[in-house]
Amino acid sequence: MSKYDELLDRAFSKLPVLSEEKVDFKIPPADCIIQGNKTLLKNISQMANIARRSPEEIGKYLTKELAAPVSISEQGLVINAKVQSASLNDKIRKYFETYIICKECHKPDTHVEHTDRGYILIVCEACGARYTVKNY
Ligand SMILES: [Zn+2]
Repeated sequence: MSKYDELLDRAFSKLPVLSEEKVDFKIPPADCIIQGNKTLLKNISQMANIARRSPEEIGKYLTKELAAPVSISEQGLVINAKVQSASLNDKIRKYFETYIICKECHKPDTHVEHTDRGYILIVCEACGARYTVKNY
């Protein structure tokens, strides 16, 4: 675990318990199947829609997290590794928590902005929060 991840974990653990009203956003579970030495994530486009990111952006993140190349096919996202659904769901949850769900209002209505100084900003369209992330 990197130092940054530790900081993030700490930040999350300090968040107040979410009220019922705020937890209506559900991270979509991975619909995936292992095929030989590969894993097919069938609902990548659904996830991309919910996250409001491109399948390529999610694929890029998973490549890094799983240390395996990915490609996009008509069937979904093909990961060149055997990945159990529990571990894939874990990565996807982390992706949503880090890059999609606003740390202030906990809504998934965010987008990414690249600043000219090389920072990457997550901007929340629901509450206006802006914060930088690394390694997007
Ligand atoms: Zn927000």
